[in-house]
Amino acid sequence: MQRFDVVSAARNWRFDGISWPTPSDVVGEVFASDVLTLDELRQQLSKPTWKSLQATIERGKPVDPAIADTVALAMKTWAMEKGATHYTHWFQPLTGSTAEKHESFVAPTSDGTAISHFSGSELIQGEPDASSFPSGGLRQTFEARGYTAWDPTSPAFIIRHPNGATLCIPTAFASFTGEALDNKTPLLRSTQAVNTAALRALALFGNTTATRVGSTVGAEQEFFLVDEEFAMRRPDLIMTGRSLFGAKPPRGQELEDHYFGSIPTRILTYLTDVEHQLYALGIPIKTRHNEVAPGQYELAPIFEQANIAADHQQLTMQVLRNTARKYGLVCLLHEKPFAGINGSGKHVNWSISTDTGMNLLEPGDTPQENMVFLFFCAAAIRAVDLHQDLLRICVSSASNDHRLGANEAPPAIMSIFLGQELTTVFEQLVKGKPTAKRAAGLLGLGTPVLPHIPLHSGDRNRTSPFAFTGNKFEFRAVGSDQSISFPVTVLNTIMAESIDALASQVEALMKKRKSFEVALQEVLKETYSKHERIIFNGDGYADAWQKEAAKRGLLNLTTAVDALERMVDKKNVKLFSSYKVLNERELEARQEIYFDQYFKKVNIEGETAEWLAQTHILPGVLQSLQQATALTSTGSAGINRRVEKLTALFDDFYEAIERLREQNKELGGDDVHSKSRHMRDNVLPAMNALRKTVDRLERVCAYDHWPLPGYREMLFVK
Ligand code: ADP
Ligand code: MG
Repeated sequence: MQRFDVVSAARNWRFDGISWPTPSDVVGEVFASDVLTLDELRQQLSKPTWKSLQATIERGKPVDPAIADTVALAMKTWAMEKGATHYTHWFQPLTGSTAEKHESFVAPTSDGTAISHFSGSELIQGEPDASSFPSGGLRQTFEARGYTAWDPTSPAFIIRHPNGATLCIPTAFASFTGEALDNKTPLLRSTQAVNTAALRALALFGNTTATRVGSTVGAEQEFFLVDEEFAMRRPDLIMTGRSLFGAKPPRGQELEDHYFGSIPTRILTYLTDVEHQLYALGIPIKTRHNEVAPGQYELAPIFEQANIAADHQQLTMQVLRNTARKYGLVCLLHEKPFAGINGSGKHVNWSISTDTGMNLLEPGDTPQENMVFLFFCAAAIRAVDLHQDLLRICVSSASNDHRLGANEAPPAIMSIFLGQELTTVFEQLVKGKPTAKRAAGLLGLGTPVLPHIPLHSGDRNRTSPFAFTGNKFEFRAVGSDQSISFPVTVLNTIMAESIDALASQVEALMKKRKSFEVALQEVLKETYSKHERIIFNGDGYADAWQKEAAKRGLLNLTTAVDALERMVDKKNVKLFSSYKVLNERELEARQEIYFDQYFKKVNIEGETAEWLAQTHILPGVLQSLQQATALTSTGSAGINRRVEKLTALFDDFYEAIERLREQNKELGGDDVHSKSRHMRDNVLPAMNALRKTVDRLERVCAYDHWPLPGYREMLFVK
């Protein structure tokens, strides 16, 4: 039998020969053991050097070049003690992944020996050959230089492999003209924007103790794990990250038995290994569980400062991918690896808080605290309503299009779930009724043996793209494969603008001799009435919502192409440039790059589908046809019908390949916009039509003749 053997794939995988970390004192010994933490640095540095660096890390003062050599030496010493032989500037180009170019610490001397060397200038700035990273026209090819610049606010760390280790230094990446070529730079700039705006607003409330405000982020990561025995035999999974063909098996997720089910031993062993590595990197992974679809899982960390959370999120994806191999698995981070089965997202939990530990999106116990909360919450409501387009744009990709709007994922329409309790608070405010905090409700569980638990002020709604969950917002439209940096950059920037707008309104009223309390109340009332349409507490998956949202005039940008077209709208250029997050050229460059990625990804899928159909599936179908045809002499009516059926299906299939081939022949014009439209309007429909015929054939052809592992195997053999 030429076909892979499912049973042996399932059976042959063994723990034998794998070594994994022994359970140890995770909190005391392992956690952050491969991170050059602030504490560690302080111990290595002299007091004045430490003070200078601390001013940079904690208060955003520019790095003093005079301390660079000392810090570099401390870093090198620490890293070499940990077994590192190399260092790299670790950065996040606009491909959405991370990049590194390793340099050895070895420096030859004139007497033919070598010493170890790492200078301050090597720490502060690097110059990778940048010509192959996307720049969207920000860097002409004749001036291909790009620079990496040390980000002292994110700690350096060590990445290990079986026979060595590398010191990774988080850096920003920019062109020689200082324009951002990466995801980190705008994120840092947006943090500054939110800091300035929030401090201004807090001063109105008389809060002068806070000296810095930043956003906090915790991103839940969903992913699929598939036995590599199968994944490696699926060229579509390898080339595109998703299955371009595959009939839905009789059993999918209908039984709802996977979600929160007990985690299979092999998977749990893998997850434990992943977590152990992440702990060493100082990444506070907190929860793990089975997700809704068979073969789908989730990891979630405790929240951290946005910049660090974003670095840690990239590392989490990297460790998930790299560790899978060791356990005979392939980790799929694609948003929709299997059609008809739940897709994967990244739920970005986001809030803003002060350096004094005050979460500005957390309702408090006193009327004063609640005023602060209502102000920032109203700012968020206004921000999401005014910038629905940006929230849709920042989660746009070819792969996330398969998920947004599908019936298990948040729709492409942006709206906010506030929960009934909070909605009522705002409505009372508008009506001018007292806004006293609702008497702390108790949720009885209907049995005296269980304690009453306080009713969480944010109840649950999994269908909303942007949900208030008690003390933070959860942005659920983010793709599982995506860097969280741009989504968080957008959240920070639109929030900064809204905070400023509301603060200005309050100040204007106070100039008219209104008291702060009265001014605030008026502004909250007006903001809510104006932007109320963005609140939706109902079922986001229902068709009725599409109609209702249209009535409310909310945007419904169904594809990434529609969304990306709006990226450089005047409003957006103005927003990003006035907050110094992205200038016009930087924004245009991003649009160019996102379109470029879109059309290339779909183009690769189109060609992979055509090629797989021709070289894998077609010969298999012919075998089944031949097998039946050879028996027509028996005169069996059943055999004749099988031949007829297979022939008819084969003709449809062949026709569909031809149509896809026609579309694949051209790219759709000269610029990335028209190419993307061609991919969306012509290539994707041709691929879908082909897929339909192939999936029908998969259910009819002989199992032995089918060349690709099916959903049945991939999702259920663990
Ligand atoms: P739940 O949403 O079920 O209440 P948690 O409160 O544990 O669960 O939060 C889920 C995710 O949200 C976690 O990743 C957590 O770290 C993150 N989170 C919690 N509080 C905040 C916050 N203030 N800012 C950002 N993320 C947060
Ligand atoms: Mg989840």
